[in-house]
Amino acid sequence: MIARKSNPHEDSATRYSLPATSGLYLHIPFCLSRCAYCDFASHALDALPNGMSFTSYADALIKEAGLAANEHGSLRCSTVYIGGGTPSLMPLDELRRVVAALREAFDVSQIEEFTLEANPDTLEKGRLEGWREMGVTRLSLGIQSLSDASLKELGRSYNRAEVLGALDLHRDELAAFDLSFDLLLNVPWQLPSQVLDDIRELMEFEPAHFSLYSLKVEPGTPLAMRVADEPELAPDDDRFADEMGAAEELLGNAGLLRYEISNFARDGKWSLHNLAYWRGGEYLGLGVNATSCVGGVRTRNHREFADYRAALLSGELPVAERAKLTETERAFERLMLALRTTWGISRDELPAGIWEKLHRRAKELAARHPQLIVVTPGRIALTSGGMNVEHALVVELADGVF
Ligand code: SF4
Repeated sequence: MIARKSNPHEDSATRYSLPATSGLYLHIPFCLSRCAYCDFASHALDALPNGMSFTSYADALIKEAGLAANEHGSLRCSTVYIGGGTPSLMPLDELRRVVAALREAFDVSQIEEFTLEANPDTLEKGRLEGWREMGVTRLSLGIQSLSDASLKELGRSYNRAEVLGALDLHRDELAAFDLSFDLLLNVPWQLPSQVLDDIRELMEFEPAHFSLYSLKVEPGTPLAMRVADEPELAPDDDRFADEMGAAEELLGNAGLLRYEISNFARDGKWSLHNLAYWRGGEYLGLGVNATSCVGGVRTRNHREFADYRAALLSGELPVAERAKLTETERAFERLMLALRTTWGISRDELPAGIWEKLHRRAKELAARHPQLIVVTPGRIALTSGGMNVEHALVVELADGVF
């Protein structure tokens, strides 16, 4: 038997009971401008689709919340996550209306975490105080880089001085929230060491959490067209692994440990909303292109605002795709998501027959690659190195099991 890997979060994870209830996600698709690499469902303010405005979008969300509450009963939500897009652009009055409607439609009396995504150039004293008053506990700030050259090439709407200036100016108001900073790795316009410099500078603002993502080239984006002409700009797997390794060491020394492929946190300051998702919890998504998984049924909303709103106006949920997952599909999804986290997957999370076969496969794999995967009688987990190649390991583990 291979020794269990030491997991610094283990005690806390065992103490922490994952929400038996649901996460509520709201998608707000407005952005100041479009970034070169982005394929999210979002629109620049000066190019909104016909009929779409902050007010019409808030009206649609409120309508959808009422319909979803009828469909699912009074869902008890332990986390709320408002993502986008750039939700911090939403005027406070509109956001207040939406949050009030959520409180009416769903049972949010036991909320443990309420996250809002924000871009640094949208921080204002009044907004920060307003978010706090409406119950936001956590701000996820999309910074991506502190290199002016990279920010320009990525098409971000601010520069380095504006980020640091905003964080400094609003230091007192920001102290009321748990802060998470997003940074991009594998950015071809900066040195690999840039991300380490950025982390060191940002630590001054006492974040509880970092998310580090590799820059991806999504089809149809301006970046994809550029990479077609300049292939040397394409992201590089080796560079990613090196940057992630160095960042993990730096953050670990500062007390922020890697608990998921892309996420690092102080003990107990994990993203509860995302953690419930990775650990197989239910979630309800509202807004264009939002996904839900409730009662084993996975749905995705219409991506286009016109289709989304037309469904709501005719009194229907704006669902474009619906799939009832089989037991095997659910088990596979559970495995794939759980192995993203440092806690891995345990025996009681899978049907017994699947667990037995999977455990055998995992032991064979661990014998060949002890640096990637760790197996104990009741659990399978990936090491940090294993997380970097999670997809390939899941494919290998699943072979002959699912
Ligand atoms: S701010 Fe975010 S959602 Fe908006 S265009 Fe940029 S990457 Fe996409």
